[in-house]
Amino acid sequence: MSEQLTELPAVARNINMPCKKCGVDRYFVVVAHTTPTSAKCKCEVCGATKTFKLTKPKAEKKPGALKKSGRVSKSREPDHAAIWNDLKSQIGDDNVVAYSMKSKFQLANAIQHPKFGVGFVTNATNEKVDVAFQDGTRALVHNRP
Ligand SMILES: [Zn+2]
Repeated sequence: MSEQLTELPAVARNINMPCKKCGVDRYFVVVAHTTPTSAKCKCEVCGATKTFKLTKPKAEKKPGALKKSGRVSKSREPDHAAIWNDLKSQIGDDNVVAYSMKSKFQLANAIQHPKFGVGFVTNATNEKVDVAFQDGTRALVHNRP
C-alpha cells in the first residue's frame, strides 16, 4: 500500500553534519528513524543529539484516517510497527541475540526477548538499552554481572 522509498541513512550509519556543540562538522551516527523523513542522530564526539530531516518538496497527504481496528488508538501514537519494520529491514534479524540482563548490547543489535519478541537496540548506555519492539520501545537493563 504505502510503499514509500525513504532515503534516510540506515540506523548505525554515519552522516556528516555540523555539530553545534563541537562547533565543527562531525560524524553523527543514526540512532533511529523517528518518522519516514527524519532520523535521530548522535554526534560521535560529544554525544549531542540532532534530528536529520529529509527535505521533501511536498509531503504526501494521508487519504484516510488510521486503519480501523478493534483497539483504541491514540491519534498521536507513533507507528511502532512501521518503525520496527524499518529497523528490521535495515538491521535484519539474522543475528538475533537472546536477551539477558547479563549480556551487553549495543546500538543496532537485534535482540530476542522471551516476552516481547524480536527488538532492535536504538540507544545504549552502560546500564540500559532502548529496544524497539513491534508494539513499542522499551528500556531494558543489560550489562549486569
Ligand atoms: Zn559534537
